[in-house]
Amino acid sequence: MQTEDYCPGTTDFKFIREKKGAFAGIQEDIEIAGFINCGGCPGKKAPLRARELVRRGADTIVFASCIKRGNPIGYPCPFAKKMIDMIQKDLPEHIKYLDYTH
Ligand code: SF4
Repeated sequence: MQTEDYCPGTTDFKFIREKKGAFAGIQEDIEIAGFINCGGCPGKKAPLRARELVRRGADTIVFASCIKRGNPIGYPCPFAKKMIDMIQKDLPEHIKYLDYTH
């Protein structure tokens, strides 16, 4: 959430469009169901927000590279593991996950 002051996700959208990085090799068209942040530290709102993406048709949850890689400010989320675990426990089993974008 705090990284949004520095990054509006431009490279995420570019990599989706060009099917590069985590999106390389995906054959089907990629439709973006929504672009959300975690809801603020310590990420407890993230499952609620991810649930809403799935309710609106998402079949994959993609964690932007700021979460685990700390792009672009060199500050990975200290709550990443807990937040991702909570989301995966909450969502249906058929949902897929990518843990970075570029
Ligand atoms: S929970 Fe992680 S991703 Fe969310 S604002 Fe805090 S440090 Fe950033």
